[in-house]
Amino acid sequence: MIKRNAGFVNLTAGYLFPEITKRRTEYLSSHTGASIISLGIGNTTEPITPYISKAMSDYVLSLGTPEGYTGYGDEQGSAALRDKIANILYPGMVKNNEVFISDGAKCDIGRIQCLFGRNVTVAVQDPAYPVYVDGSVIIGAAGRQNKDICGYSGIIYMPCTPENNFFPDLSVVPPDSLIYFCSPNNPTGAVSTRKELKKLVDFALARGCIIIFDAAYSAFIRDKNLPKTIYEIPGARECAIEVNSFSKPAGFTGVRLGWSVIPESLVFEDGTPVSADWNRIMTTLFNGASNIAQYGGLAALDGDGLVEMKSLIDYYLENVSVIHEALGCDNFVKAGIEVYSTGNAPYLWVKFPAYKSWEIFDKILEQCQIITTPGSGFGPAGEHFLRFSSFGHHKDIQTACERLVTLRL
Ligand SMILES: *Cc1c(COP(=O)(O)O)cnc(C)c1O
Repeated sequence: MIKRNAGFVNLTAGYLFPEITKRRTEYLSSHTGASIISLGIGNTTEPITPYISKAMSDYVLSLGTPEGYTGYGDEQGSAALRDKIANILYPGMVKNNEVFISDGAKCDIGRIQCLFGRNVTVAVQDPAYPVYVDGSVIIGAAGRQNKDICGYSGIIYMPCTPENNFFPDLSVVPPDSLIYFCSPNNPTGAVSTRKELKKLVDFALARGCIIIFDAAYSAFIRDKNLPKTIYEIPGARECAIEVNSFSKPAGFTGVRLGWSVIPESLVFEDGTPVSADWNRIMTTLFNGASNIAQYGGLAALDGDGLVEMKSLIDYYLENVSVIHEALGCDNFVKAGIEVYSTGNAPYLWVKFPAYKSWEIFDKILEQCQIITTPGSGFGPAGEHFLRFSSFGHHKDIQTACERLVTLRL
């Protein structure tokens, strides 16, 4: 018989979200009629805005006409959208042919692992979005699982904690590594400063590393001093790929549209441009993003679309303030709860020093009927933390906060 892909054998069970669902179901079965509110959502909840949804629906109707119909488009994405992303989101930093349109950032992160193969060392922030590690393990880059160090031999964890202001000690990263870096961060909400990102870029250049910069939440940055793309940092064009997406800023989590930037000046050891191989991957394994989604992306980058995206994000950022205020109440302060949120990300990262993540998760579910996300599920450095998400309707967030302030710790 065919042997199972060793990558899957090494994969630890996807534990976090199934376990949350299990505990929620158990709670509901013993508390009939309880109304649970989730502050654990990593998905958008508000409708796609009018200008953008109308542009897509008009386009769909035109596909039903002989003049409007189109089949396969360019695998790299529509030229108009590549142009618009380069000019509007990366003015003077990125050229249109360096932007590759895709069906989402997560999907690109999966394909990026094909680009580098199984022999590369991978460094990830701890805690981190799970696909960086799991994708690397599936492709076999992680080697054998080493339970003693709570991870994989081919994967280096870079702890990001309040003690280091959520910016890792890079000295643990070996030369020639692939470094996954997410800012604004999921789950911590931390946003790296220009100075910090310069340190990261300088390190990568000096040590032959390539950075995969996940900027999926860049549109949440409201502080004008914080960099929204890695290409604001000199030298990044020689060491960084950026992945990004319309999922969070335009509510396209279901529509599916993202992009990656691979600068022409990013090369492998033998001088081959990384973009040449990426082009090969996209033309071979991918057949282009949905033309309907791309039409939505074009509308999102029109003047009206940009205004709508900003107000959509403002909506979630208001939720962030409401949750932040609730977590600042007396009983939380007295219990030594530490809230980390700068108002430039949809997540609040909250430390409960006296509790393990799952203990405080259960306590909040039991007393407040609120679902959160245990920080330990994102990596060992997430222990004692919970992630609070601002994705939700104002009314639900308000009710959740009224319940939260009653929590007995
Ligand atoms: C939501 C999210 C993405 C976006 O993924 P898509 O596939 O574009 O929907 C990427 N990175 C992080 C860290 C995310 O939280």
